[in-house]
Amino acid sequence: MTIRVGLGFDLHRLEEGRPCILGGLTLPHPTGPAGHSDGDAVLHALTDAVTGAAGLDDIGTLFPDDDPRWKGADSATLFSEAVELVGQAGWVVVNIDVVIATEGPKIKPHRSAMRARIAELSGVEPEAVNVKGKTLEGMGALAGGAGVAVQAVCLLEKG
Ligand code: MG
Repeated sequence: MTIRVGLGFDLHRLEEGRPCILGGLTLPHPTGPAGHSDGDAVLHALTDAVTGAAGLDDIGTLFPDDDPRWKGADSATLFSEAVELVGQAGWVVVNIDVVIATEGPKIKPHRSAMRARIAELSGVEPEAVNVKGKTLEGMGALAGGAGVAVQAVCLLEKG
């Protein structure tokens, strides 16, 4: 069996009045990730993880943020396109693991729904997707809810 692992990372500022879109869900929170697209740092990190594992271009090359086509884009659409490209290259997603570091929205109450949503977009069962929230222990520029940082890892196998 041929397997490949891919790693993705992303971070966004959290700003007042932006919808709090993370992991393909809209969370009930007064701030949300700023960005050219909807700012979904979870799906952006995941997009880089899946395309990285398959040896494809990164998110910034596939979906440039100076391209008006992606202004306000639904990151679920971008991630789905990335999964499609990975599939066309002969790869199938095996599992996904995600760490969301933020002191903005609480992640724990939304873990199950986020796992299910990411699984749906990735074409795997929810048990093949994990999501963990971490606080920043009040340290650094993202502390106090100023931002969200995400690490994602994805395993692919040759289909
Ligand atoms: Mg991003």
